[in-house]
Amino acid sequence: MGFFTPKLGIDLGTANTLVFAPGRGVILNEPSVVAVSEQDNKILAVGNEAKEMIGRTPESIVAYRPMRDGVIADYRVTEAMLSYYFSKALGKWNIWKPEVMVSVPAGVTSTERRAVIEAAIKAGAKNAYVVKEPILAAIGAGIPIHEAQGHMVVDIGGGTTDVAVISLGGIVASTSVKVAGNKIDQAIIDYIKKTFNLAIGDKTAEQIKIKVGSAVFLEEELEMIIKGRDYLTGLPRSTSIKTNEIVKAISRELREMIKAIKDVLQETPPELAADIIDHGITMTGGSSMLRNLPELVYRRTGVKAQLAKDPLYCVAKGTGIALNHLDTYKKTIITKR
Ligand code: ADP
Ligand code: MG
Repeated sequence: MGFFTPKLGIDLGTANTLVFAPGRGVILNEPSVVAVSEQDNKILAVGNEAKEMIGRTPESIVAYRPMRDGVIADYRVTEAMLSYYFSKALGKWNIWKPEVMVSVPAGVTSTERRAVIEAAIKAGAKNAYVVKEPILAAIGAGIPIHEAQGHMVVDIGGGTTDVAVISLGGIVASTSVKVAGNKIDQAIIDYIKKTFNLAIGDKTAEQIKIKVGSAVFLEEELEMIIKGRDYLTGLPRSTSIKTNEIVKAISRELREMIKAIKDVLQETPPELAADIIDHGITMTGGSSMLRNLPELVYRRTGVKAQLAKDPLYCVAKGTGIALNHLDTYKKTIITKR
């Protein structure tokens, strides 16, 4: 007699997992990490707690990034993650089984899809729905996906760049490449090593990207001081870095992202391509916030591009909207149990 059924939308990202509760917004935002003990393969921690274990733990613990490592079909890990998020999100409401909507990559196989649904049910969901991520990103970005109109959504996260053309609630053309925020950070690490003989960590690389990075050259460059460890002396040292060096350092990664967009544009039917020119390309995901990225997309494709509102939250918001309007989106929801 479920007179009270809590609703939870879950964005299983490669970098971050977000939980959205309709009416409340994003109530949880934690790294997509699971700590597993190497010896007995036991799951020790999920999310923030697991991330803190990385690099600070005895070697017998391995940190899994289930989404990045592409083992979304790893039933056990997915179930552990979901059950952790359910109980943390529900708190004292834990006695009621939630109805959940989980985002899955557009390219998942039916086996992987089933694994996610099974995992959600095992983790305590009353009903589990699965919707492809680009659709959710589009819904969350406020795109009227049911119109007979073509819209292009480019979601650039930590691990992947996902490009999709959506019309009449379905995906008409799409691609996914494994180049996004993480690869950009790595390119910055490599550049600093090669140029300054300086070792920096992931966190520093990400800060450089956000603080002074850009997708196009700037006339008035930004600059920052970075600290790292000298490869030769082994001692700490600092140096300064400017925007245009970073633009060059990450140019290969940017090119691959642009190529993914062009590939999808080229396989889009002409009528829908015309719509996309009219509406512009909508960009979502954390990495779409890289300085001037929409400008680069415009310069390389000739199609205007704009950042969605709250790019980091679009997929999560989409899960909430879809959950609240299951009827409207019924054609789009791939699976239910
Ligand atoms: P995912 O959906 O794969 O979990 P997110 O959409 O949460 O990924 O985005 C995470 C990525 O966004 C990270 O690589 C992070 O460095 C990047 N990011 C966050 N803010 C910015 C910013 N202002 N500029 C550039 N990159 C950013
Ligand atoms: Mg995402």
